[in-house]
Parts: sequence; structure tokens; C-alpha cells
Amino acid sequence: MSPMKQSKKRILKTIVATALIGSPVFAGDLQVARMIAQGDLEAAGKHPRVQSDSSWKRIVRDVAKAYQRAEFLEASPGKTWRGCAENEVVLAYVQRGDKKVYMCPLAMSKESDFISQVLLHEATHVSGNYDECSTSEVEFSLRALAGRRPFKNGYADRCGLSGRFDFQGGSSTDWGVDSILGSPSDTDWSTGSARSGGNQSGGKPSDW
Ligand SMILES: [Zn+2]
Repeated sequence: MSPMKQSKKRILKTIVATALIGSPVFAGDLQVARMIAQGDLEAAGKHPRVQSDSSWKRIVRDVAKAYQRAEFLEASPGKTWRGCAENEVVLAYVQRGDKKVYMCPLAMSKESDFISQVLLHEATHVSGNYDECSTSEVEFSLRALAGRRPFKNGYADRCGLSGRFDFQGGSSTDWGVDSILGSPSDTDWSTGSARSGGNQSGGKPSDW
């Protein structure tokens, strides 16, 4: 390449870098996150271990169906959902029996890949699973089955899932919790204390 062309290329790179730095936020994108989650669900569904396990086959199918049905809602710029405003550590929330998923600013401020995992977690709730431990197990398993390391969430330790999955980096501040409205026992996350209950996924370990 001629010095002239190299120089032009460098200028172009600088312009692109400046444009990126100049953008107001590096937040993830819901549409990108949706594509990633969709891909993970498809990959997980085709995994031989899911194909050969009727229980997991049903779980993945049910979550995929719920994912199609779910409405992932992002608040307008400068606004937030009431449930997010009431507790700013919450990533997203659902109402029991409803297909609407309210995405909170905390989740949307993170990278698309992280958001995609939140979508998988919330879609699992929409499928009718309101147990946080079981839901988290499904969430992590879907990622692992798709060949990607899951992010740790705020339920992993208390649910005994931490030793079972190869989580990618992140300090404790990267862990998040969500909320299910319509059930007092499921909304005590605001206390910040670990809930009792343990793994209620029916003794169906994943260990992918
Ligand atoms: Zn949840």
C-alpha cells in the first residue's frame, strides 16, 4: 500500500474513532440483544444433549415459544418504568402471567451480549417459570449450550449454581437481579438478603 493510501486509511480510522468516542453512551442495543438471544435459543435447541434429553428439550422449546410471545419494552429516552425507578438495582421485571418484560436502564446501560442473557432469563419467566434458581439455571444453560460463557447473576451463589458454570469475568457489581410482580415472596429482592429456597428445578442438573 502506498504511503498516501496508508495515510488516508489512518485519517479514516481517526474519524471513525472520534465518532465513536463522541457518541453519548456505549449502551447495548435491544435489537442486537434480541438477535443474540434468538441465536442462542436456536443453537441450544439443536444441541445433541438437548435433543437427547426430553426434559431439557421441552424447556428449551417452551422458552423459545415464550421468547417469541414476549414483549420486551424499553422506556422512552429520559424516562423509566415505575418498577425500575422503585429499585435501581433491578435489571428488568415481569408481571406474573404476563408477556410484557420491562427492561430497566441498568440492563440497557450494559453491552448487548449481557442484555441478551437478561432476555433469556425474562423469557424463561414468561414461559411460566417464576422460580429464580430454576430460571437462572435455564438462563446459564442456554448460553452454555450455545457455546458461550454465561454472565453470573445475583442468584447464582444463593442458588448453588456458581460451581456448575464457567462464568465470564465481572465483579460483584456486574451481577444483577430482576423482579417478578404479583408475588410477595418473589419481590423481596429489595431487602438485598439472600432468599432461602435453594434449587427447585426438580433435581434436573444441567452440568453442560
Ligand atoms: Zn428472574
